[in-house]
Amino acid sequence: MQLYNSLSHKKEDFVPREAGKVSMYTCGPTVYHYAHIGNLRSYIMEDILEKYLRFTGLDVKRVMNITDVGHLTSDGDTGDDKMLKGAKREHKTVMEIAKFYTDAFFNDCKKLNIKTPDVVVPATTYIDEFIRVISSLMEKGYAYEAGGNIYFDTSKLDKYYVFGDFNEEDLEVGVREGVEADGNKRNKADFVLWFTKSKFDDQELKWESPWGVGYPGWHIECSCISMKNLGEYLDIHCGGIDNAFPHHTNEIAQSEAYLGHEWCNYWFHVHHLNTNSGKMSKSKGEFLTVSLLEEKGYDPLVYRFFCLNSHYRKSLVFSWENLDNAVVSFNKLIDKIAPLTKEAPAEIDTAEYDRLYKSFDEALGNDINTSLAVTALHDVLKSKANASTKLNLIAEFDKVLGLDLIKKATEKANAANGASSDIPAEVMELVEQRKAARKDKNFALADELRDKIAALGYEVKETRQGTEINKIG
Ligand code: AMP
Ligand code: ZN
Repeated sequence: MQLYNSLSHKKEDFVPREAGKVSMYTCGPTVYHYAHIGNLRSYIMEDILEKYLRFTGLDVKRVMNITDVGHLTSDGDTGDDKMLKGAKREHKTVMEIAKFYTDAFFNDCKKLNIKTPDVVVPATTYIDEFIRVISSLMEKGYAYEAGGNIYFDTSKLDKYYVFGDFNEEDLEVGVREGVEADGNKRNKADFVLWFTKSKFDDQELKWESPWGVGYPGWHIECSCISMKNLGEYLDIHCGGIDNAFPHHTNEIAQSEAYLGHEWCNYWFHVHHLNTNSGKMSKSKGEFLTVSLLEEKGYDPLVYRFFCLNSHYRKSLVFSWENLDNAVVSFNKLIDKIAPLTKEAPAEIDTAEYDRLYKSFDEALGNDINTSLAVTALHDVLKSKANASTKLNLIAEFDKVLGLDLIKKATEKANAANGASSDIPAEVMELVEQRKAARKDKNFALADELRDKIAALGYEVKETRQGTEINKIG
């Protein structure tokens, strides 16, 4: 498999350190608000990467942190504490906010078929580990105390700007006007490992440390959680592209200083979801969530499908129109699969199976080219192979794509063929009458028919994906 590596700026052959096994780390969400669909683009594409690695037979162990302490509004060490900001906004404690938005995050992931990583670690549960690693960095001379805080000394490294495309000026990015630069730092790029002199008098979460009562910086979380769970060497580290600098740059600095050797081989960065007015971000206040998509009648998996249609290394523009286009093509896809589910089983056509499987595998094996993988799926539908061959391929592909293709197609086939579904023919007849009434804009009749359907124990709903019929209760 070829994977683009942000460290070398090239596609490289992916070779795990230990044959057959992959260690993978993902920066988790900062749980002071709902995840927006931009954040979730990153998690969808990382999920595809993980599932594709498994698809090729590799044994993946994936670890993710939950940032519930230490992340300030600028990715440098300035601005407000994000968790405290969330707590104040909602008149709750920081831990209440963390619990609520962690649950909300996994709920969204479930709706998007994003697998939960094998190990998930809230940063607040690893304080002793952070203190242990920071103490070691102090002993090795990579960290210093100034003004009460502990800083990493970037001048001790041969090369700090490892990703190459950043420089000192980028450190200003995100620093709001009127926010003072931290005068304790010996070098501009130095970053906080442990805060004791908090500028937030009302800092809720504080722990004892050899340097006084305080709390950890954001970057140390990921280094420690990764090293503790995945060992001294890491195969792949993932995150959104905004994490590359300073967050991942700092992670590399402190991990390699602590370990005394190189740490992570491949860096996988997902580019941003933008709107016409720029990058989608939580701090802008107004952002799109999975719940909002659902309120507007979109199936969250249509958003996943929308993401799969473009490459993870290109920024993607979100608009309702673009999402509507995804709805249309997703529905067409399901419509094409639906009749296959009704065909009698037949022997697999192995030659066609192998040919089509290979083209899907090659698409994803070429730096996770998901849109080509979707094309490979269409090629299955166009092929002359029998229905069983096609369904088997689709089921295999969907282990990576995660679109519930067979389930949705079966539901659609059943709904289209009321007699063979669980839905009584009488209900299906009323549903058809209601569709006709709506088409004629006779909404009074449509409502009347809906009530009749309800009296028979079924609820009928119009969504952008078409008519949905569900059993009540
Ligand atoms: P956060 O919750 O802010 O720590 O971010 C969670 C993940 O979402 C990180 O990997 C970010 O790099 C990523 N991210 C943030 N904004 C976007 C965006 N607009 N598009 C894609 N990924 C993003
Ligand atoms: Zn991280």
